[in-house]
Amino acid sequence: MSDKLLNLVVDLYGCPNRCLHCWLGHMPNRRMEDDADRFIVDYFSPYFDRIAFYSWLREPDFCDDYAERWERDLAVSRNARPERFELASFWRIVRDENYIPFLRTVGVKKVQLTFFGLEATQDRYVGRKGAYREVMEATDLLIRGGILPRWQCFVNEENRGEIVDLLRISEGIRESSCPELEFFVHEGTCDGENRKLYPIRILKRHIPEELLPVWPDSATLTTEKDCCGILEADDSRPSFPVGEQVTLNISNEYDVYYNYTHMTKPWVIGNLKKEDPASLIRRILSGDTFALRAAGKHTWAELARRYGDPSSDRVFSLEDFRMYLVNRELERAE
Ligand code: SF4
Repeated sequence: MSDKLLNLVVDLYGCPNRCLHCWLGHMPNRRMEDDADRFIVDYFSPYFDRIAFYSWLREPDFCDDYAERWERDLAVSRNARPERFELASFWRIVRDENYIPFLRTVGVKKVQLTFFGLEATQDRYVGRKGAYREVMEATDLLIRGGILPRWQCFVNEENRGEIVDLLRISEGIRESSCPELEFFVHEGTCDGENRKLYPIRILKRHIPEELLPVWPDSATLTTEKDCCGILEADDSRPSFPVGEQVTLNISNEYDVYYNYTHMTKPWVIGNLKKEDPASLIRRILSGDTFALRAAGKHTWAELARRYGDPSSDRVFSLEDFRMYLVNRELERAE
C-alpha cells in the first residue's frame, strides 16, 4: 500500500471548447459509463489508501447535474478530498443562474477566465462563436455574484496588440465595478495544441511595454536562446520522478497519463480496462513508461543541440523548454 496521495483526474464529460492553446490536446467528447467513477477508484484502492477523485479533467461542471456530481466526487474519494481550485465553467456561468450560487456554496472565491484577444480572435481561439461575449458576460455575473474574476491572457506574436486592448478594458472594469479584478499575461507552455503555435510564440523584444507590469517574473524572462545556453553543458538526462502526490489524468477511453504535458500516444502509461493493476501501478510509480524511457536516452545538452534554436528570441521558461525538447524527441521516436 503506497502512502502517497493519489489524485485521479478523469475526463468523464468532456469540454465545450476547442482552445488553440489547449495543453492537454484536443480529444473527442464522450460521456463515460455511469459506473466509471467507482470502477476507477476500485482499480486503485488496494494500492493507495488516500484517493481524491475528480470527475472533470477538461471543463469543470460540464454535466448538467454538477451539484450532485460534486457530492459524488466527495463520496467516491477515500480518505482525501478533491479541491475546487480557482476554476469554473464560463460556458455554464452564462447558461445557468444556479451555477454561481453553487460555486459559492462549495467555497469558490475567485474564478480564472482565459483570454486570447478581442471578439474575433477570442472566438477563433476558443473554437466557438460567442466565446468573447460569454467570457465578458461571465466577468460581469461573477462580480455581481460576489466572486472575483481573474483574467489570464495568453500572448503571442499574433495577438500582442489585442492583449494590450484587453488590459485597458480590464482597467475600465476595475474603475467602474471591481477594483480587485486581477489581470496577468504569460506565454503559455509549448505542448498540446500550443505546440502548433510555436511559429508565432512571442519574441521577447516584441513584448509590449504595457504588459511587463502584469507579466509575472517579467524581470527574469528567458528565451529559447537563453535556455539553449543553460542546457548546453547539462549532461544529466530527463527524469520526472513521482513526488509525494501522484496525479493521473485518465482519458474517456481509460488511458492513463501523468498530469504533465499533453495526452498523446507516446505518453500513455497503460489502460485501466486492458491491464492488471499491479503491473500498471508499478510502472506508474517507477516511471517505467515508453515516453520516459525514450526521453532518458539522451542528455539535456544533446536534446538542446538537436532541437533548440540558439538564435531564437521566443520566450520560454526553462521548464517549458525542457518539455518542448522531450516532445520533439518523442515525435521522432514514435
Ligand atoms: S484549454 Fe480547457 S477549456 Fe480549452 S479546450 Fe482545453 S480543456 Fe477545454
